[in-house]
Amino acid sequence: MGAIAGRPGGDAVGGSGAEGPHPVGPSGPVMGMDLGGTYMRAALADEYGRIVLERRVETLAREGREAVLGRVVALLNEVKGEAGGRGVSAVGVGAPGPLDPEAGHVVVEPGGPECSCGGRGHLEALASGTAIARQAREALSSGEDTILGKLSGGDPERVTAELAHEAALAGDPLCVGLLGAAGRRVGHALVGLVHLFNPEVVVLGGGVTGAGDLFWGPLRETLWGGLIPTFAEGLRLNKSALGDHAGLYGAAALAIRAVRDAPAITDASAELRTGKGGPRG
Ligand SMILES: [Zn+2]
Repeated sequence: MGAIAGRPGGDAVGGSGAEGPHPVGPSGPVMGMDLGGTYMRAALADEYGRIVLERRVETLAREGREAVLGRVVALLNEVKGEAGGRGVSAVGVGAPGPLDPEAGHVVVEPGGPECSCGGRGHLEALASGTAIARQAREALSSGEDTILGKLSGGDPERVTAELAHEAALAGDPLCVGLLGAAGRRVGHALVGLVHLFNPEVVVLGGGVTGAGDLFWGPLRETLWGGLIPTFAEGLRLNKSALGDHAGLYGAAALAIRAVRDAPAITDASAELRTGKGGPRG
């Protein structure tokens, strides 16, 4: 959001202000896309940076690159179709790092099956929604006693982080344990980060932060229990105000900035396509 911070815009991307909303970018809508591990979301944002329409589909990364790209294009075309004939001037995309934002590439490191980035032992591989879903699937597949079997109709492929959360809320010990372990891991990671950077506030976003006290309880316990007291003094731990929409707002802001800064070379109004060999037609 920093790119256009300081431009008052109500609840728009540019932040809140006492004045009425001002256009922060192009005269027409833009699209933002958040490519997540579990869901991909696309949104239409107006010239004030406000999300006016949103769609999401499962990412299903395990089906491979071409299938995912096909879903990306279909989703963007669906949202573009809802623009009601108004041309979409740019599309911003947010994706899990590491990224080369200038080149528009997701940088993929070489390596093992542990983390979606290719590395091993990263927090993303241990405590994300994707990780919780994977751990729950593995537990179900290995015959552990869990109501996930009933909730998923016995099909491990249907186990998502949300289903694990549902099971945890119903008191399923396995899923309560998975969410708690994820919270403790994030808490341990934060202890290290706070000791390094000594921040005044830590803001956490992402789907897992919607899991309530089953996640936040163990996280808080680990964080506050692990901090040197002087580092804990005055430290605030907040949940992101944008929830799991932060990626969408960021992507829309990127699209607005692209149009504002380089209107002559930005034209995403052509039909979006996928395929080898780059854009056609
Ligand atoms: Zn990683």
